[in-house]
Amino acid sequence: GVPLAVADPEVHAVLGRELARQRGTLEMIASENFAPLSVLQAQGSVLTNKYAEGYPGRRYYGGCAHVDEAERLAIERAKALFGAEYANVQPHSGAQANAAALAALLEPGDAFRGLDLAHGGHLTHGMRRTFSGRYFTPVAYHVRESDHLIDMAEVERLAWEHRPKLIIAGWSAYPRQLDFGHFRRIADEVGAFLMVDMAHFAGLVAAGLHESPVPYADVVTSTTHKTLGGPRGGVVLARAELGKKLNSAVFPGLQGGPLEHVIAAKAVAFKLAGEPEFRERQERTLAGAQILADRLLREEQVGLVSGGTDVHLVLVDLRESTLDGKQAEDRLHRVGITVNRNAVPFDPRPPMVPSGIRIGTPALAARGFTAEDFEEVADVIALALRPSADEGELDKLAARVAVLAQRHPLYPGVAG
Ligand code: PLP
Repeated sequence: GVPLAVADPEVHAVLGRELARQRGTLEMIASENFAPLSVLQAQGSVLTNKYAEGYPGRRYYGGCAHVDEAERLAIERAKALFGAEYANVQPHSGAQANAAALAALLEPGDAFRGLDLAHGGHLTHGMRRTFSGRYFTPVAYHVRESDHLIDMAEVERLAWEHRPKLIIAGWSAYPRQLDFGHFRRIADEVGAFLMVDMAHFAGLVAAGLHESPVPYADVVTSTTHKTLGGPRGGVVLARAELGKKLNSAVFPGLQGGPLEHVIAAKAVAFKLAGEPEFRERQERTLAGAQILADRLLREEQVGLVSGGTDVHLVLVDLRESTLDGKQAEDRLHRVGITVNRNAVPFDPRPPMVPSGIRIGTPALAARGFTAEDFEEVADVIALALRPSADEGELDKLAARVAVLAQRHPLYPGVAG
């Protein structure tokens, strides 16, 4: 075998530059994480060569004995980790998992409810240009203007009005835990399915630090790469009786051959997520977000959506600031911290320059950041977001970021 560095020096160099970027900066995009080496190894394995349409024991191709073993491990571990009766580990991504769930539970045109994109929902929860908005009939629910919490009275009122066949609970940018029991009661009242998309908080659920949606929901979807810290991909959990429909919605409904190398990496991630170190890491993730929230609330012109957090992210509200979300994102990039700009609920600014930034702690927790490190990060962010900060001050903050990055080496021993 010709190694990558020889076969393709250009791509090899790109990978080296990206590793250096990840090592030298502080990754605080709330949906990102660092997969452990064991996960990267499983994903970069010979399983990438195998076709395996179908499911373990029922494949349309020969030679599947070992990918069957890998996929069975992933399924059994996912079920055990989350206490689910059924798991499908084949969705290539979170969006695919959601597409499969909607295809299994709804007929084209059916009404469903999801949190409005501008209030923290995900694209696949009903945005007009996605499959969820084009082939079904979404009716959005919202957060309240007074406290930025999901307006459960509206969820209930609109459920009676529109009689949806499905209610989706879940979010991409919402700093609070959901009341699954309340969603379940509303779904039962109007005879709807309840689906929970736990993509963002699955790691917290696995660690027992967030209520599990599994006992409440008919279907639970997730990504495996956010707080869960595994390979990029999706997973669907459900009650056993929905398994047949969901299996056929994933394959052949939406996908062809499963990515068995990714499935093997998911198996590894599910195993690791059951271990004590994972729980400890999720505790640091939550503590880091709390520290960040407490520090930012001491700044003038900086607010937090819902006034704080009880998950792994904060949504910084810059409606009172002369800095917009784009300028704030650029400022943090300038000092070596990566975040994404985000709309805040009832945002007066346009989507490309919204009034918020979303900051998450999972990747730094994976890197080993302690409460003391998070205090330092929080201080750097707070000072960088002061509209008055000049180039000299930003240089000093960049130097503090470099010290933190060096204190916690990423993938030590791995060559670039
Ligand atoms: N669901 C939620 C709640 C998400 O936040 C995301 C990703 O941001 C997805 C689904 C989609 O996952 P993917 O990017 O893997 O398709």
